[in-house]
Amino acid sequence: MNTFLSSAQEAIREKYLAFASETVAPIVKGLESHEVCLKEFLQDLGQKGYLGISVPTEYGGQGNPFTFSCLFTEILGMHEPGLGLSLAGHYAAIEVLKKYGSDKQKSRYLPLLSRGELLATLAFSEETAGTDFKAVLAQLTKDGDSYLLNAKKSWVVNGEICGLALVLSKNLENSADPLAVAIVDLTEKSYVCSTDIRRMGLRSAYANNIEFKNQRLSADNLIQSAAAEKIALFAMDIAKLVLAASSVGLSFSALNLAVTHARSREQFGATIGQFQGIQWKLADICTEAEGARMQVLRAAWSLEAEPEKFSTYASMSKWFAARVARQQSAEAMQVLGASGLLEDCPMEKLYRDAKAMEICFGTSEAQKLQLVDLLEI
Ligand SMILES: Cc1cc2nc3c(=O)[nH]c(=O)nc-3n(C[C@H](O)[C@H](O)[C@H](O)COP(=O)(O)OP(=O)(O)OC[C@H]3O[C@@H](n4cnc5c(N)ncnc54)[C@H](O)[C@@H]3O)c2cc1C
Repeated sequence: MNTFLSSAQEAIREKYLAFASETVAPIVKGLESHEVCLKEFLQDLGQKGYLGISVPTEYGGQGNPFTFSCLFTEILGMHEPGLGLSLAGHYAAIEVLKKYGSDKQKSRYLPLLSRGELLATLAFSEETAGTDFKAVLAQLTKDGDSYLLNAKKSWVVNGEICGLALVLSKNLENSADPLAVAIVDLTEKSYVCSTDIRRMGLRSAYANNIEFKNQRLSADNLIQSAAAEKIALFAMDIAKLVLAASSVGLSFSALNLAVTHARSREQFGATIGQFQGIQWKLADICTEAEGARMQVLRAAWSLEAEPEKFSTYASMSKWFAARVARQQSAEAMQVLGASGLLEDCPMEKLYRDAKAMEICFGTSEAQKLQLVDLLEI
């Protein structure tokens, strides 16, 4: 196939496809019900190099551009879109450390994150700070040579299975920067973690509320190379792009289910795929999914090639890919008729997962707000 992806990217895509159909497809139900251990699955991804796809080789990763991480996430998303949510937290922490971490922070954490010996997350949201994430109440205060963190964080993806969180808080010690992003070690369990928050979609990922009480941090735990708001926005941009990639995988999966059904289901003496009303739905799903894929690849490419435009493209891709996933999974479900509503039908799960894509790591409205800001209207 001759596409705009390089031959190396096409080859690696084939490898990811084979890996996902052998490894992920058989355990989708187990991942969603948590009968299959997600932590072990992610650690295994790390051992195989998939968590360090874009980690520089000097830190034990594969040293590939971020586009490869997006291609990998899209392909996992074809089978289990919730994995995209887990990867969003992990890959975002990696990219933040790559871009803003000190040499010491990079050498300490990137090899572990790359091998899956440490799983990571972003802990930004709070009960009263969602879209308005700068309104966090979490506080970082100085205590002698170190700092104390007090925070109640909501919806922390990977919360109960990860060992490192990037926590956004107010910084009471620095008048120049009212916020701080701290690297918090979660391996010592010195915090309170809720059970998984039960919800409609993306259930294979864990999401927890986490409370830190006087968690002691050293100056080495703070990311200080840029303003915390800038670091937080960058982290969110990476997370939203990864989710957008997973949404693309979801849309193609919905298309495949709809096409398969249209080829075999007969009504009025013909397969339903022979009716123009159905054909047009399939053409719409295919075109929109392909458009969303282009947006994701454009954004991923801009991370290295046009970093000043990355935020714009990441916001566009998240908003567009999530909308396509939600609208087109509904159309695909329509093609399946009643069979799509069955609880054990993969379409039912895709439909639930698609809605969550429009909310996690920034709602669609939040993406538009960011774009409007950039347009300086
Ligand atoms: C499964 C899951 C996993 C998550 N994982 C993480 C995580 O790992 N780390 C993390 O930090 N957060 C995480 N989140 C939180 C997520 O990022 C927030 O839910 C999201 O940012 C929206 O915040 P909110 O739910 O508080 O909605 P709100 O901010 O209360 O918004 C409610 C509604 O109002 C709209 N709205 C708000 N402000 C405006 C405005 N100015 N103009 C127009 N409309 C507006 C919103 O778009 C939305 O439709 C997760 C959420 C979910 C569901």
